[in-house]
Amino acid sequence: MKTFAEYQTEARKTAGYDPALKITYSTMGLVGEAGELANKVKKLMRGDANRSELIEGIRGEMGDVLWYLSALADDIGVELSDIASENILKLRSRQERGKIRGGGDNR
Ligand SMILES: [Mg+2]
Repeated sequence: MKTFAEYQTEARKTAGYDPALKITYSTMGLVGEAGELANKVKKLMRGDANRSELIEGIRGEMGDVLWYLSALADDIGVELSDIASENILKLRSRQERGKIRGGGDNR
């Protein structure tokens, strides 16, 4: 899988939730998977068990987060590739203006 466009197309084929629940389902799934990811990172930082197992688990949760992010993009009719490109443009602009650190969406 080389592009976000390819990923979004393939991920879409595996979605099986009720279209009446779209946006809500994908958003709740995204937040839930982000929580699972955070919990595994917590365990990694705590020094639990097997580090390589935790890294594998984190990789899996990152994939789950990506799936729900892609599903949300579908639900609101946007392309994941556009989101990725626009995000990099925003960050480059902040970097060039010395605003990469700090708070606020509109830096
Ligand atoms: Mg998960």
